[in-house]
Amino acid sequence: MTEARTESARIIDGKASAARLRDKVASRSAVLVAQHGVTPGLAVVLVGNDPASEVYVRNKGRQTLEAGMRSFETRLPETTPEAELIALIARLNADPDVHGILVQLPLPGQIRETAVIDAIAPAKDVDGFHVVNTGLLAARGAGIVPCTPLGCMMLLEEYVDDLAGQHAVVVGRSNIVGKPMAQLLLRANCTVTITHSRTRDLAGVCRSADILVAAVGRPRMVQGSWIRPGATVIDVGINRIEVATPEGPKQRLVGDVDFDSAVQVAGAITPVPGGVGPMTIACLLANTLAAACAQHGIDPRSLEDAIRAPDTTAQGKES
Ligand code: NAP
Repeated sequence: MTEARTESARIIDGKASAARLRDKVASRSAVLVAQHGVTPGLAVVLVGNDPASEVYVRNKGRQTLEAGMRSFETRLPETTPEAELIALIARLNADPDVHGILVQLPLPGQIRETAVIDAIAPAKDVDGFHVVNTGLLAARGAGIVPCTPLGCMMLLEEYVDDLAGQHAVVVGRSNIVGKPMAQLLLRANCTVTITHSRTRDLAGVCRSADILVAAVGRPRMVQGSWIRPGATVIDVGINRIEVATPEGPKQRLVGDVDFDSAVQVAGAITPVPGGVGPMTIACLLANTLAAACAQHGIDPRSLEDAIRAPDTTAQGKES
């Protein structure tokens, strides 16, 4: 039985955190343009017409431009051969205006995801999926970190006082979320357990978590009764379900956590939508800015210093 709490959880406002991160990226990007003549450029490639991917790509393009960066979008037909996509990646790898490359997943069946990820230059792999970047993260806690777990980590750092020594349970072991999430938690000195579809007594393991990250792809699977009172819950899931309303059936986005029961038990929790989702694109912009700096041998901290430095131009001087 789960101990009842008298208050409901703090809601982790991913939308607000993402807006702050985007502002930060935009101001640093402006300094990069003004002081170094470098405009960060992000190339996004979409193969086929998957409606969810179309929305993601449109949002990425819009937010890239809003951050003062260049956006290069390529749309290819569903039937594109793998060799053609790889040839496009080779051109983007060689293009000095492109600092980040993202190929929207999933890809049609005739194209191997691994072949495509392997073809992206690790320095431009702003999704952080190339084995060089996953290896760097695992072995050195460095490299370009995948955007979704990076966003989750930023939320945890903002909302949890001290991560060191906390027991973090990650539900899901995908290369995109679960595995890099576990590496980041380990880097933050958490004690980490990774769970998956063969884990025994998943509910019991989850109940031992101070920090619970759900990245399963199963609507509302994690119940409030699986959560230790006061735990911090990060719900990565984005699932579209149909719900009955007086006006008829409607589509609704829900997470991998049953929010209504979890909010009664957790200490803090991300909502869906409005939690992890907005952080993902903001982190993509941050990765693109960092990649542009690295490719031009610029220390990103120098951009921060430029922002902090007092404005000594004639305009900035008080009369
Ligand atoms: P995925 O590649 O399908 O991986 C799902 C993981 O969950 C697998 O490791 C699988 O275990 C595990 N799993 C499945 N059923 C389970 C069960 N009954 N009990 C325990 N573990 C189970 O999914 P993903 O790409 O990591 O995405 C996970 C969720 O996050 C999805 O809802 C996706 O839409 C969402 N997502 C959100 C963002 C964002 O920006 N917010 C970004 C990426 C993904 P096995 O390995 O044993 O099969």
